[in-house]
Amino acid sequence: MPPPVALDPALPRSADLFARASRSLPGGVGSSARGVRAGWTPYPPFVASGDGARLTDVDGHEYVDYLLGLGPMLLGHRHPEVTEAVVRAIRDRGTVFGLPYDLEAEAAEKVVAAVPSVEMVRFANSGSEAVGTAVRLARAATGRPLILRFEGMYHGWMDTVYWSNHPGLQAAGPDSHPVPVAAGAGLAPGIEASLVILQWNDVAALETAMAEYGDRIAAVITEPMMLNTGCIMPLPGYLARMRELTTRHGVVLIFDEVITGFRLALGGAQAYFGVTPDLTAMAKGIAGGFPVAAIGGRRELMELMADGRYSHSGTYNSNVVAMAAVSATLDVLARPGTYEGLFSRGNRLLDGLRSVAAANGVAAEVQGAGPVGQLWFTDAPIRTYRDAARHVRAERFTTWWQAMLARGVLFHPSQFENLFVSTAHTDADVDQTLEAASAAMAAVADAATAS
Ligand code: PMP
Repeated sequence: MPPPVALDPALPRSADLFARASRSLPGGVGSSARGVRAGWTPYPPFVASGDGARLTDVDGHEYVDYLLGLGPMLLGHRHPEVTEAVVRAIRDRGTVFGLPYDLEAEAAEKVVAAVPSVEMVRFANSGSEAVGTAVRLARAATGRPLILRFEGMYHGWMDTVYWSNHPGLQAAGPDSHPVPVAAGAGLAPGIEASLVILQWNDVAALETAMAEYGDRIAAVITEPMMLNTGCIMPLPGYLARMRELTTRHGVVLIFDEVITGFRLALGGAQAYFGVTPDLTAMAKGIAGGFPVAAIGGRRELMELMADGRYSHSGTYNSNVVAMAAVSATLDVLARPGTYEGLFSRGNRLLDGLRSVAAANGVAAEVQGAGPVGQLWFTDAPIRTYRDAARHVRAERFTTWWQAMLARGVLFHPSQFENLFVSTAHTDADVDQTLEAASAAMAAVADAATAS
């Protein structure tokens, strides 16, 4: 539990609403990432509205928004074309039919055209569902029992993968042989026997595990960039080696592109890094903030859904709101200049934060690529979850977060989350942010000297 901090300025209306919400919503929030335990102390700001790259709270403060709904608002809040497409589709057609329709095929064609390894796609409603589907499909296709996953990643809350997200190091086994640690209570017993847990970015560990268990592993699942322990970039050649080893052992390689999909490139991280998986889970960038996910991949795997060997179902899959949002969002993202703009503004932000930390003599490492990244307060390089668990200075991040919030810049209070940049952020937004960052970093430097 993070230490309670007094919000400065205080947000009295948010505090009142939080007290009200806490009477009927557990923890006063709808998802644990929004709660006090996630770092929003002593209560989260309550939102009045979002517009483009800005969020306004009920206490009348406007923020430059780098939380972006934890990722989905890649086009900023209320993108006019996506909003219009969704409203029109609801008015003209309806919402849920329990039958297929043309807009679904149109959205699927756009995903297939955009993402290199995706030959066929099915839609779902959340990233957890998409990952759960990919994992089960890999087992169905291979008939093998084991799933290899990496410490520090989050792949949603399904029992099969809700493990070793941010385990306490005392419980997590030696660095060379991590053991599975449940990410929460209530998981079905025995699942740990189906998991191989490794540290990420460690080629030798992956080679050893594949040599030892390769022919019993159904899937290796990875985020192509670790974005659930702040931001950790893959070391050069790591993903390519993972691709080689999985191919050699007949293992399904699943990229969890719930965050990276449509963000690092229209084709996601697989286009950005030039490494193609067998299956891909997508969600946060696909629909301009509407709740949509997708699972896609090689035809021979996806066709298990067609021939009855695998049943993929869902009442709300491919609903009209979802398909109108995907279709319109992918049109907007496909326009020339979209990713140049995202990368130019995103990298200006990340470079600027690096400079601000250096100018204030604060030990920090900024990792990221254009529209997503994080600032680590650390004396040592962060290449794995365990590096982060051992070296990051959480109290500095708390000071930084507070000082930025007070200066009108919003992002998640946990260093293990991300800074997101949207197509709606302007150079002026980045300038304003870096100006706030100079003052906030001076506060971090002062606190560091005092402690
Ligand atoms: N995979 C990754 C990489 C994620 O970051 C998340 C959500 N943060 C999920 C899966 C789960 O997605 P959802 O919250 O939509 O279920």
